[in-house]
Amino acid sequence: MVDEGKKLISRRDFLRIAGLSASSIAAGNLPSTSHTPLMSKMSPLSKQAAGKVRPWWVREVDQPTVEIDWDQVRRFDARNTVRGLGFAKYAGQAELDRLNKLDAEIEKKRILEGIPGYTLQDYALNDAQASIARGKRYFLGPQEAQTPEERGVPKWTGSPAEAARVLRASMRHFGAATIGFVQLDENTRKLIYSHDPDGKKIVFEEVDEAYETSAKRVIPNKAKWVIVYTVQMSTETMKRAPTILAEQTTKLSYGRGLEVQFKTQEFIRALGYQCLGEASSNALGISPALAVMAGLGELSRQNRVITPEFGPMVRIFKMITDLPVEPDKPIDAGIMEFCRQCKKCAEACPASALSLDDEPSWETTGGWNNPGHKAYFEDSIKCRTYMKSEAGSNCGICFAVCPFAKKEKAWLHQWVKAGVSTFPVFDGVIRSMDDAFSYGAQKNPEEWWYLDLPEFGIDTEQTTNDG
Ligand code: SF4
Ligand code: SF4
Repeated sequence: MVDEGKKLISRRDFLRIAGLSASSIAAGNLPSTSHTPLMSKMSPLSKQAAGKVRPWWVREVDQPTVEIDWDQVRRFDARNTVRGLGFAKYAGQAELDRLNKLDAEIEKKRILEGIPGYTLQDYALNDAQASIARGKRYFLGPQEAQTPEERGVPKWTGSPAEAARVLRASMRHFGAATIGFVQLDENTRKLIYSHDPDGKKIVFEEVDEAYETSAKRVIPNKAKWVIVYTVQMSTETMKRAPTILAEQTTKLSYGRGLEVQFKTQEFIRALGYQCLGEASSNALGISPALAVMAGLGELSRQNRVITPEFGPMVRIFKMITDLPVEPDKPIDAGIMEFCRQCKKCAEACPASALSLDDEPSWETTGGWNNPGHKAYFEDSIKCRTYMKSEAGSNCGICFAVCPFAKKEKAWLHQWVKAGVSTFPVFDGVIRSMDDAFSYGAQKNPEEWWYLDLPEFGIDTEQTTNDG
């Protein structure tokens, strides 16, 4: 029932609003009834667009929904993030040592006490995922596939649109969820790191072949296309955040992302072109920025990407190729607009690390942010400190509570997401509905071990026409 303080609404109100919106949708400037959110999963027409299947309510736009001042954007040094040793740059080595020690003590205590989501079997699952996620990566790729030259045949040729279609089809088969392409120019080159996390410089040179030395990784100027791709995380598992059980699905995604990278590098090599990958996890370039430019999602209040298909439940990866591919445009699915009113992640963040401001800002929070875009900048030190001192994991509460972290199957969720992009006036109502149905509540970690989840815990049919 109605409780303004808790932003609850009655079922009657919900049905009234739903009815009003349904009729508004029917009367509005929307696609024909065959594309209503109740009936349509994907636009059949979009299937013809080089294998790129998106929900109908995703609009391609010339400029992303995050404002960018390209003059202020600089190539970022990946060592300035708070990952790994980067934390010590800002908080000091002594604080990092203290937190690591605390983290280890908490782990042992929770295992001994059998805390749900932190039992020995939960940690064992996490360790198992780490074995692949932390596997060796290669900038130049495995380089084992036969090149066309070695086969004595000409290299593959096709239009940029055909190349995009072929890459999408193969990468989806390798395990990528969504794939987009960014053409490198004077601006978008700034989204490639100046230095990788291991300290090697990343430089562009007028050479034919990419190469790597002990000091630098060299990208040929002719390699002008970034392949950006997402790999799904298990929503059902992340709903158990902030436990170590939930963390392991992120590691699973990193492992699967690595597999997609290797295979794509070999695939492109076998076509007769070069494909340069992340030399370590989170290397090469700024994932959220490249994903936004590739139209895979929008920047959100979390200062991370929310995708129309999977919400925040993805990890993002990237590679660079000299195979000319048709670039994609950024999108507007109403996500950034929705974040202005929602604030659910920021309110739920136990570390108060996310912005509660009404409007995004040009002011960064610390050296871990790259200036030049108007965003809800986060306090990464507070976030990391909470992870190590209390969560005992990589947390993920902000992912789990996000109203976009839903499976696509239920019509309500389609309607909610469709309403967001077409009728921003309903954003506040939809957030209230999300609260009312307790969608953000943490699920029972013990119960997870009794579920019959699909492979990798994910739904692989959300972005397909052909199963
Ligand atoms: S991961 Fe956790 S601590 Fe970090 S921003 Fe999200 S909710 Fe806050
Ligand atoms: S929880 Fe709300 S404010 Fe946060 S990212 Fe999701 S939609 Fe945006």
